[in-house]
Parts: sequence; structure tokens; C-alpha cells
Amino acid sequence: MNKITNHMPTAELQALDAAHHMHPFTENAALAKKGVRIMTQGKGVWLTDSEGHKIIDGMAGLWCVNIGYGRTELGDVAKAQMDQLAYYNTFFQTSHVPAIALAAKIAELAPGDLNHVFFAGSGSEANDTNIRMVRRYWDIKGQSEKRVIIARTNGYHGSTMGGGSLGGMSGIHAHGGKIAGIVHIGEPNWWAQGGDMTPEAFGLMRAQELEAKILELGVENVAAFIGEPIQGAGGVIIPPSTYWPEIQRIVDKYGILLIADEVITGFGRTGNWFGSQTFGIRPHIMTIAKGLSSGYQPIGGSIVCDEVAEVMGANGDFNHGYTYSGHPVAAAVALENLRIMQDENIVEHVRDVAHPYLKARWDALTDHPLVGEAKLVGLMGSIALTPNKASRAKFASEAGTVGYKVRERCFANDLIMRHVGDRMIIAPPLVITPDEIDILIARATKSLDEGYAILKSEGLMVAAS
Ligand SMILES: *Cc1c(COP(=O)(O)O)cnc(C)c1O
Repeated sequence: MNKITNHMPTAELQALDAAHHMHPFTENAALAKKGVRIMTQGKGVWLTDSEGHKIIDGMAGLWCVNIGYGRTELGDVAKAQMDQLAYYNTFFQTSHVPAIALAAKIAELAPGDLNHVFFAGSGSEANDTNIRMVRRYWDIKGQSEKRVIIARTNGYHGSTMGGGSLGGMSGIHAHGGKIAGIVHIGEPNWWAQGGDMTPEAFGLMRAQELEAKILELGVENVAAFIGEPIQGAGGVIIPPSTYWPEIQRIVDKYGILLIADEVITGFGRTGNWFGSQTFGIRPHIMTIAKGLSSGYQPIGGSIVCDEVAEVMGANGDFNHGYTYSGHPVAAAVALENLRIMQDENIVEHVRDVAHPYLKARWDALTDHPLVGEAKLVGLMGSIALTPNKASRAKFASEAGTVGYKVRERCFANDLIMRHVGDRMIIAPPLVITPDEIDILIARATKSLDEGYAILKSEGLMVAAS
């Protein structure tokens, strides 16, 4: 077979992709007919595809390319590390410099007494680690019946068996089932579910479902609660201000472990190093991945507080780990990514420059006839599409029909903005500049205008009864 390069004609690449490549979360037969879009290059917030389109990436890949594309320092570090020590493991009483340095750097950045890192290859793997770690922790403390983990409907924690089970997405559970001992409570999604309540009252009510669930199960059976500070894949659901303080109160009162899944919200996304700082959450364990390496290498992990690490460390082996836990090349690249984030004050850029600039423009989208609500924390935003703003109505069409149509217009306008049902979401690289935000907003507005025209002409601006 010939070498596959960026320069092979798009149609040939698409045919090979259709013949041999099974895509995640994709109806592969339909995609094969339509043909994939093939990305060939990235620089800053910009992507180029095989047809030469210059696309602005409003999603930072999959919420991960925090420092932007094309930073050659990371490749330099990867090559140097591969030449020096391409691989060694961290099992069996060995370590290596990149894993040591990265663990120490993460401990320095993480709040409170989150001082210990267990590495994984991805966010899903890290959450699988968390399931096993919290259960093992309670075993050691002589409370082995504490096994249930409480999570939320429409949460996302990855797509391995454990991660998919922690997540509250029925579509994922339907494909392969769900492991035992994980239960779900409602999500703090005021826009869709808050009815006549104020956001604050609704947030409180949803948090109190945790207390009710603990009492129903018996606290002697509950190991932990897990939640994303902001639900990402669920549609960028930003909880009401009352939600996390009440969750924290309940977790403290009943002494269960709190896991903050910071795979998206970690490493600057919310305008602080961690979303837990933005929302005043004090987790025992944080899940990290994505922005840890800005996606330049696959790496994830669990940041663990002193007490849990002490219990886990002093009571025999924890029979768990991955061949690539703390992989030296991935760790070296992640460390270089964090160096760039610190040296270039990228978190401060989000907080002081990019967020305030985007927030004003994002809020103004609520003037658009299709847009009911526009929310933004840091550089993580959503807009709710609606046929009737006053009643926060859903569309009569099947959920996602409208969102998909608007997403198609974004695609055509060289903007990557995702849809989750009938919500549009963004999470651009953290280095986005005001000029680039103007371009993003111009393309988003054009896509909304065109989408609105299509919806009207197809008779889809109709509220569900
Ligand atoms: C993406 C994501 C994961 C899963 O990470 P992978 O690296 O895809 O396994 C877990 N939790 C959250 C909150 C995520 O957004």
C-alpha cells in the first residue's frame, strides 16, 4: 500500500476511512456515505482540512487543546524524551524523571491537600481508577460495605465500562450495560427542568437529592459522590450558584468521599486552574486528563488528597495500574504544556482578557430569535435554542433535530461549535484572542441566522405541547 499522506486526494482518503476505520460515537455507515472531514493541520485556534478550509476551532478539539495547536516545543520535548528513555513503567518499585516531575508540578498547582497523583492514560481510565480506589479505601477502613457511588443523570465520565457506568447517559448504558453499585440522581439543569422555580431554589433541590439518596441507601453503603463542576458533554450545564455549596455540605455531613471530575474544567478552562476553585468545592479526588497535556499526548490521572493517599499507601498493595501509567513521553509533554501555561499566564488570560471579552459578545446572542439562554464560565459556554424564550419551550421536533441543523451551518461556515440536543456549546483553546473571538461570534451569528431561516422554511419553529 502507498504511504498515506496529507496530500492524497480527499476522496481517496475518505474511501479508505470508510473501508477500514470505525469512528467513536458515530453511525459509521451514514458517515461513510457522506464522507469524513479530514483535518490536516493546526495552528493556534485554527484548523486546516484536506480541502484547504481555514476552520476556527470553537471546541479545542474535544475540549483539550488548551494552549492551542502547533506549539513545536512539545514535539521537541517528546523527541528528546523518546531518545533519552522512550518507555519505562512505574510498577515494581521504579520511577523516572518525567513522572516524578509531573506529579510534583500537579501537586503544586492543585488546591488544598490534593498532593498525590495516580496516572492513567485517559479520563475514562482515571475514573475507573477512582471507582476501585474509593472502594479499596473503605475496605481498608473496615467498611467494605461502602461501595455505592452516587453520580448524576446526564453526567459524562468517559466511555470505558466504569466511566460509562458513572456517566448518566442512557444511550451509553444501552450499549453494553452498566456495572453494579452506581446510582444516579438528577442534574442541576435549570433551563430544561427548573419549571417555575428560581434557579437558586432548583439548584438547592437538586443538590438535596444527594442527601435523600444517601438516606435511602444507608450511609453505611455509600462510598462516594462524583460530579463534573460543570457538565461538559451533557451540554455545558452550568449549575445554579446554590448547587455546589449544598453538595459540599451534604458530603461533609455524611463523611462520604467527593470526586470532582475535572477532565474538562481542569487546567484553566473556568478561569482558575481548577473548576473546584471556581465553585468552592473541596474534593478528595480530582479526575484529570484533556488539558493536562493540551491533547498533545494521551494522559490522565487522579489527584488524591493526603488522607486517602495515606490510607491507600500504608495497607498493602493497591492491585491496580496501567502499562502506561505516567508514560515518560506523555508526562514530559504534559510538563512542558504546564510550563507554557504558567510562563505565558494563560489562566490569567482566560480570566482577565478572553472571558470578559467573550462574555459580552456571548450574552448578546440572547437577542437572536433562536436563542433562549447564553451561559459562559471561563471559556466554556452554551446556548439553549428554543422556539419560545418566555416559556423556555422545547421544540416539537425530536430533540437534537434543530441543534444538528445549526451545527451543519457552523460546519459550512468553517466554525466548529458542537450541539448537544438543542444546545450549542463552545470551549475554544484558552489562547483565543479578542480578534479571534470576533471571528468566532461572526460565524456563530451567521450560522444561527441561516439555521433560523431554514427552521422557519421547514416549519420547525414549533414548541412541543
Ligand atoms: C472527556 C471526559 C472524560 C473521559 O476522558 P477520555 O480521555 O475520553 O477517556 C471523563 N470525564 C469528563 C468530564 C470528560 O469530559
